[in-house]
Amino acid sequence: MFRKLDDLGNIAGKVALVRIDLNLPMQDGQVTDDTRVRAAAPTILELSAKGAKVLLLAHFGRPKGARVADQSLSLVLGAVEKVLGREVMFVSEVAGDVVAQAVGILRNGDVACLENTRFWPGEEANDPELAKAIAANADFFVNDAFSAAHRAHATTEGLAHVLPAYAGRSMQAELEALEKALGQPVKPVAAVVGGAKVSTKLDVLKHLVARVDHLIIGGGMANTFLAARGVDVGKSLCEHDLATTAEAILEAADTAGCTVHLPYDVVVAKEFAANPASLRTCNVHEVAADEMILDIGPQAVEALGDVLKTCRTLVWNGPLGAFEIPPFDSATVALARIAAALSKEGELTSVAGGGDTVAALHHAGVADDFTYVSTAGGAFLEWMEGRELPGVKALEV
Ligand code: ADP
Ligand code: MG
Repeated sequence: MFRKLDDLGNIAGKVALVRIDLNLPMQDGQVTDDTRVRAAAPTILELSAKGAKVLLLAHFGRPKGARVADQSLSLVLGAVEKVLGREVMFVSEVAGDVVAQAVGILRNGDVACLENTRFWPGEEANDPELAKAIAANADFFVNDAFSAAHRAHATTEGLAHVLPAYAGRSMQAELEALEKALGQPVKPVAAVVGGAKVSTKLDVLKHLVARVDHLIIGGGMANTFLAARGVDVGKSLCEHDLATTAEAILEAADTAGCTVHLPYDVVVAKEFAANPASLRTCNVHEVAADEMILDIGPQAVEALGDVLKTCRTLVWNGPLGAFEIPPFDSATVALARIAAALSKEGELTSVAGGGDTVAALHHAGVADDFTYVSTAGGAFLEWMEGRELPGVKALEV
């Protein structure tokens, strides 16, 4: 249980510290993607509409506890103002008199953006003195940065201990979606885990086998599992040294009553290029020594679609193939469309996350049809691993 904005009483004239994600991608001094600002906008505008003075807190880049001119949050202020459709005051500190003076100038409903929290070493050290100093200028704390919740930093965790703390709208949506997907999911539950390597997702796999009814393994990591089962995967990306680990995961799944789905047909090529001449589809047992598995095959996708049709909940991380290069996006696109259609019909609650996964869902044109798509990256993966996220834990009441 966590407090939400609905639990705030009258906040007119009160000062809110709102932790958001402003770690925006930039190119040539311009913000290239303002998705994160748009995610935080409802919370900021709601607090503003209720008359609070809103102080935005965020980190930007990795300045490692020192002021670095090209990592000042003043550089993204224009992008924030554009999304909010209003002026935002910039304050070059996060604590002390300068912030106190700024608060004195702000009218009810005004928004200010404080400087990059990581300019202060106490941020990443989660120094309670820094948290107290920041809190001294405010009445309450709102955390709307799920994507930073896997870090125990002063403004992602510490502040929640020194001020009344609330989940912002985007944090709330994320937590509710994740709860529906793996906390208290409607069964049967399927998980799709793909991507390049088993080694980066070992903890995810171990956590999932004990919780889901169907574990669908695709991408490069399927090769490691196939190889562990004695399949010759040729030149495919494969972590042969993880054969024992892969077997242990398959055994744990068996014990837990989780059905693991590995592909029986695959798309192979001799070179990693768009539509190569050597492209062919074959049974997993027919991969030649000089071929690479770059996607799972159409028969496998059809069978997996049938599995999804029997499920009520889906959680998805990792593409099924090397989706950046056609036609190795085919399986990911096809299965994503099946999941999206089932979600639209209300048959399936579908939650997906991961940098490449989100890109793949956009590429398939179905990101909006999934029940929830998390853009949180590292925090999403840690949640998939079953870890407690310190920023979320600190919000619990
Ligand atoms: P996410 O960012 O969603 O967590 P990952 O980073 O784990 O996903 O995996 C995505 C990467 O996996 C992509 O770059 C994709 O090309 C690669 N990949 C998927 N299948 C294969 C494969 N069969 N061979 C090589 N690379 C693959
Ligand atoms: Mg990735």
